[in-house]
Amino acid sequence: MIDDKHEIKVGISSCLLGNEVRYDGGHKSNDYIRQTLSQYFEFKPFCPELESGMSVPRPPIQLRHTEQGIRCVVVKDHERDVTEQLQSCNQKQDHWLGDLCGYILKNGSPSCGMERVKVYRNEHPDRSGTGIFAQYLKDHYPLLPIEEEGRLGDAKLRENFIQRVYVYHRWKQFSQEIITPSRLQTFHSQHKLIAMSHEQNMARSLSQQVANATKKISRK
Ligand code: SF4
Repeated sequence: MIDDKHEIKVGISSCLLGNEVRYDGGHKSNDYIRQTLSQYFEFKPFCPELESGMSVPRPPIQLRHTEQGIRCVVVKDHERDVTEQLQSCNQKQDHWLGDLCGYILKNGSPSCGMERVKVYRNEHPDRSGTGIFAQYLKDHYPLLPIEEEGRLGDAKLRENFIQRVYVYHRWKQFSQEIITPSRLQTFHSQHKLIAMSHEQNMARSLSQQVANATKKISRK
């Protein structure tokens, strides 16, 4: 099965592609992403802070524990709460997020960080946070493969992410047409070994579910 790069759309934190969108006017260009992964994926860069109306440069923001839960505020003025500004921008992105087969996020960011983002209580941070945009992706696109740029330096995590992107891309293509028993079985057998290589019990359970679903579709 050949996948065309231009069909495999992957969202990415814009600063990772070298775009100067960070609060200090800089970027976080990642050579591996720009030079290698870009040969296989069509990147869709997005900066949630910029898109929500913030400027470059801009005052840095952070996550904080408050009485209203975790909020995103300006570092030097905690009264300036930008949580809703960011959330309302997120909700306007569904028209392109739904086309994606994966997402690469900048780690540590109060907007883009996938996990272990600093959340401050007074001046003492813990690492319990998720960026406001990253949380939106997780909540609204639970099947979307998401990874952080820093973790792509680990060969196993990188391979796992790339594999998930390709399989999700194929699943999206597959499910665009009517799902017949034979198509479902073919799709499953093409990917069965991948599932087995990850978790054998779950792979067996998946095979059973496919067999049950195939019977159900056949009876209709
Ligand atoms: S909000 Fe995300 S894309 Fe924008 S500069 Fe920060 S980490 Fe990069």
